[in-house]
Amino acid sequence: MTRATLYGWGRTTPSIAEVVTPANDADVAAQLAASSEVIARGLGRSYGDAAQLSGGVVLNNRELGGIGPIGEDGVVTVGAGVSIDELLSLSIPQGWFVPVTPGTRQVTIAGAVAADVHGKNHHVDGSFANHVLEMRLVTPSGTSTVSPTEDPQLFWATVGGMGLTGVVTTVTLRMLAIETDQVLVDTERYGDLDGVMAAMASGDADYRYSVAWVDCMTRGAHMGRAILTRGVHASRGDVESPTLKGPKAPRLFVPFDAPSGLLNPLTIKVFNEVWFRSAPRHEVREPQKLSTFFHPLDGVRDWNRLYGRRGFVQYQFCVPDAAGDTVVRAIERLSHSGVPSFLAVLKRFGPANQGLLSFPMPGWTLALDLPVGPSKLPGVLDDLDEMVLAAGGRIYFAKDARLSPEKVRSMYPGLGAFLEVKNRVDPEHRLTSDLARRLQLTGR
Ligand SMILES: Cc1cc2nc3c(=O)[nH]c(=O)nc-3n(C[C@H](O)[C@H](O)[C@H](O)COP(=O)(O)OP(=O)(O)OC[C@H]3O[C@@H](n4cnc5c(N)ncnc54)[C@H](O)[C@@H]3O)c2cc1C
Repeated sequence: MTRATLYGWGRTTPSIAEVVTPANDADVAAQLAASSEVIARGLGRSYGDAAQLSGGVVLNNRELGGIGPIGEDGVVTVGAGVSIDELLSLSIPQGWFVPVTPGTRQVTIAGAVAADVHGKNHHVDGSFANHVLEMRLVTPSGTSTVSPTEDPQLFWATVGGMGLTGVVTTVTLRMLAIETDQVLVDTERYGDLDGVMAAMASGDADYRYSVAWVDCMTRGAHMGRAILTRGVHASRGDVESPTLKGPKAPRLFVPFDAPSGLLNPLTIKVFNEVWFRSAPRHEVREPQKLSTFFHPLDGVRDWNRLYGRRGFVQYQFCVPDAAGDTVVRAIERLSHSGVPSFLAVLKRFGPANQGLLSFPMPGWTLALDLPVGPSKLPGVLDDLDEMVLAAGGRIYFAKDARLSPEKVRSMYPGLGAFLEVKNRVDPEHRLTSDLARRLQLTGR
């Protein structure tokens, strides 16, 4: 057991905990029995306080390893602490890709389950749990295999349940067959937000993957100008000299914390401008490596240090289809506030799954990167919360560091059912985290 200061990727709310690294189900069960308050942790890529527990015990999942053989049907059983990066290094050369990947490969499989992560293909493939066949789960009341048919309530409480129903130790999922390590990408620049949203609403169905990068700092006629990239996996006949190579380790890294003021309205405006101008106006079927298309940020290790010691908030919300104007009003509010914001990420969500606390709902999702510092920031985010609530939308737990319990109750109608399941498997309320305490998800 070692004492450590832990924080999320946004580095805003550190706390101190005892860290233990269990290697199998029995170790995990022993830790759950011995600790009055405990939570699992993966690679710490959630932005806020989900994977930390002030004064409690944090179970580092990285020794829960092992990748089984990948069957002809793409089914594989993976240790909870294996990262998507490690899985892809093994699976791509065999012609398999993860069915859903977040914007970084540096997340563990259990972290992907606990947040029920989504990628650029939610409108086609749903979220991570849609591809999970079963998982092994250690709870304070015992160890079991859960699936959509075996104890489905516990399965659907665990996916998206942020580690609060138990510790996942293995996950069996179905991978996606690929013929090459490339994606054929169409890129289009749009001078305003309405244009890009109309194009996504009418055309995303033709692509497996779609994402728009939106400039939230430009006002007036060009408010919300955006670059839309959409793609499909390239088959062997689509590219010259097809290959199946796994991801490469990053060659660049940020060696120290940048000065806190480095990312200010001026520097971010300049960055957004350069980035917008350097994208092609219109490009069709450009072959891109899987890692370039899916995980561009993984090319630079520790890039969160660029935000300085104060860190940054990622604010991600989703709203139903009918409330697309909330996206417009949110970007309007931001661009007029003077609060600096890096390029925002806009995606479409398809049908939701049965996850009681899963984030996606059919409609739109917008993710904003906001450096901590400007005094106006908390007020602007409170305003955005109200807009999202009024639209029937919600905020993503994996990104959150500031929401209140009252808002969560309105945003997540599955919360009552989730707490019933949690209290069944964790009657003494051992499983908790800083996030769970803050948002009253502990079941107490
Ligand atoms: C650059 C970047 C891009 C991202 N892009 C996306 C995106 O496109 N889509 C998206 O959905 N998310 C995205 N995320 C968020 C990220 O995918 C999630 O926060 C994910 O949960 C992180 O996994 P992790 O292994 O780092 O888990 P951690 O952050 O360490 O923990 C996350 C949660 O998982 C729980 N957990 C960890 N291990 C276990 C276990 N063994 N059993 C049960 N629970 C466990 C923790 O308790 C915690 O609640 C992004 C994050 C970054 C930094």
